Amino acid sequence: MEPRLGRKRILVTGGSGFLGSHLCDRLIAQGHDVLCVDNFFTGSKDNVRQLLDNPRFELMRHDVTFPLYVEVDEIYNLACPASPIHYQFDPVQTTKTSVHGAINMLGLAKRVKARIFQASTSEVYGDPQEHPQTEDYWGHVNPTGFRSCYDEGKRCAETLFFDYWRQHQLSIKVVRIFNTYGPRMHPNDGRVVSNFVVQALRGDPITIFGDGEQSRSFCYVDDLIEGFVRFMVSDDAATGPLNLGNPGEFTIRELAELVIDLTGSSSKLKTEPLPSDDPRQRQPDISRAKKLLGWEPATSLRDGLKPTIEYFDQLLKVGNIPG
Ligand code: NAD
Ligand code: UDP
Repeated sequence: MEPRLGRKRILVTGGSGFLGSHLCDRLIAQGHDVLCVDNFFTGSKDNVRQLLDNPRFELMRHDVTFPLYVEVDEIYNLACPASPIHYQFDPVQTTKTSVHGAINMLGLAKRVKARIFQASTSEVYGDPQEHPQTEDYWGHVNPTGFRSCYDEGKRCAETLFFDYWRQHQLSIKVVRIFNTYGPRMHPNDGRVVSNFVVQALRGDPITIFGDGEQSRSFCYVDDLIEGFVRFMVSDDAATGPLNLGNPGEFTIRELAELVIDLTGSSSKLKTEPLPSDDPRQRQPDISRAKKLLGWEPATSLRDGLKPTIEYFDQLLKVGNIPG
């Protein structure tokens, strides 16, 4: 693996979102200049408040569905709502963000000869019929359902990344992220970890969709960001797609019970209908990332939930739940 050393100008799209803000923190701590671009659809200035006074950090309001002309050495393309509630709110915009956003950022990368990273997703596997999912699995995706704007948008973005690599010899890094959680998730974004923690802290019923026997594998944000930055400095030949996630698999009911245990909450479990096309199971095979990057998650679900619970507890105490 050949490290790309020195101070770089790095663009992070979606940089004021949950993952993007942690990535910006990490890149600034490494001594780089960071340009954070976001339209604040699901992200918030609060997530990058700690960086606003840093002269190496710049925040720009911009929608990636429009072209962007900046001079940078590297691009991390994270812009896209990730929670089903948010990406289904305006599904046409979600597809545009994934597809037009990818075209614009790839065009920028081509012009300035920047290496470019794509935050793809385990959703490209759809409701998988192979378990665990390896990168070679092509997936089982409904092209016309409620999740399709996100799943197919991300699949098309992957296609674009590989076509720019083949056709224009762009240096690309495509990761498929499995469910990741941690501080700075939006408390109202509807994802399962934030929902359950906020419900438990408020003493509200914990909403289990379906029978709760569906599974997910939850990765703590710090582990994921470590995987991002290791992959970005890897050899040009390592394009991905690369699964990044924690193989520890839990049913949604097990997650609910763990959250109740860790918060000491008196909340009861409540069953609600399962949303359509909800994947039955999901677990990453991370052999490729282990071999390529010497990377694997270090944080158990129990350990990662503790700082996550503290974060939401603090938000609730100061009444600072963003809209
Ligand atoms: P998030 O919603 O917190 O962050 C997304 C950010 O992108 C937000 O700041 C939002 O305002 C911004 N954004 C959305 N549309 C935009 C546009 N058109 N132009 C500019 N900015 C725009 O979600 P996240 O969890 O931080 O996810 C970040 C990326 O990682 C997304 O691309 C998502 O698909 C991917 N991902 C995340 C997970 C996860 O578990 N967190 C899993 C798989 C993939
Ligand atoms: N889920 C749930 N209760 C909630 C929110 C989500 O039972 O309040 C379930 C959801 O149906 C899915 C799993 O938790 O099976 C993960 O949902 P999330 O929206 O976090 O992510 P994704 O489905 O995209 O993996």
